[in-house]
Amino acid sequence: MTPEEAPLVLVIEDEAPIRQFLRAALASHGYAVAEAATGGDGLRLAAEDKPALVILDLGLPDIDGLEVTRRLREWSSVPLIVLSARGREEDKVAALDAGADDYLTKPFGVKELVARLRVAQRHAVQTPGATDTVLEVGDLRLDFSTRRVFLRGAEVRLTPLEYRLLATLGRTPGRVMTHRHLLAEVWGPGYEDEAHYVRLFMSQLRRKIEDDPARPRYLRTEPGVGYRFLPD
Ligand code: CA
Repeated sequence: MTPEEAPLVLVIEDEAPIRQFLRAALASHGYAVAEAATGGDGLRLAAEDKPALVILDLGLPDIDGLEVTRRLREWSSVPLIVLSARGREEDKVAALDAGADDYLTKPFGVKELVARLRVAQRHAVQTPGATDTVLEVGDLRLDFSTRRVFLRGAEVRLTPLEYRLLATLGRTPGRVMTHRHLLAEVWGPGYEDEAHYVRLFMSQLRRKIEDDPARPRYLRTEPGVGYRFLPD
């Protein structure tokens, strides 16, 4: 890959050792890197450098990362992954609801980082309506055009809500969705605070499509945040 082709990742992080780690990890995977140590600099570079991806720490000295997310989303749809400290689930949820694409909890490994970047990048290049009508992962087959679901070739009977929950997650494999997002998509406006609906229907759905609902292959729980459909 020539330098001109390397996608530019903007890292907005006030801790120098983490910036260094990210720079080395990203460079070794073929990314170019721009760095900002404050939210203000980060927003300026996001506008000037037009990065292909942004990695944003939520704990910044000047503008809170959540506020950076909101401001960035006023004019940019660049894929955005936020970094947060362990145990700050509410921060991640707020950032995802403000428009972040995904999150990583510190400390994280290079493999996890690169996997998340690839998912975020893939979803950024997909144009609405251009997605496949069939999704096949493992033994599961979702046909979005006929709204039918098959497990090892046998049709699985889902209720309309179960199907919508599965299809909403399956449309973007690998991408995390918050409880609020799923409630708004599947149940509609006014249900955003009814997280127990999601949990109830998720457990029904898992009993129908997972070999072991306690150790799901397809529908992963992101504790305190939401769910994601695992790709291959
Ligand atoms: Ca920080």
